[in-house]
Amino acid sequence: MPVYKYYCDKCGKYTKKVARIAERHEQTCDECGCELELAVPDRVFTILDIDPYFDTGFGCRVDSRQHKKRIMRERNLVDVRDYPSHNVDEWVDETQEKARKMVEKEKRCAEANC
Ligand SMILES: [Zn+2]
Repeated sequence: MPVYKYYCDKCGKYTKKVARIAERHEQTCDECGCELELAVPDRVFTILDIDPYFDTGFGCRVDSRQHKKRIMRERNLVDVRDYPSHNVDEWVDETQEKARKMVEKEKRCAEANC
């Protein structure tokens, strides 16, 4: 049985409970007996898909979110929207630093013939 996270309005506390899927909306608080609210809405688990489109950035057709993820993984790309905006600059610096180090390492390896 899955574990769900609940919020009790009366106690103002979060709790975790093991519940049957069919009974996930019928859990009560251990402390006050009130009906618990699911803290994670069901819709979080629903992955909305996208209509297929031609991505000019990738230069190919994207059929679904899954497909897009796969393309990005294959090309070692990261969606900038996955990062909080205030961290983007930092993250870009970090990525460039990593790329620089990788190039340096490759150079050293080429020189050392490893
Ligand atoms: Zn309660």
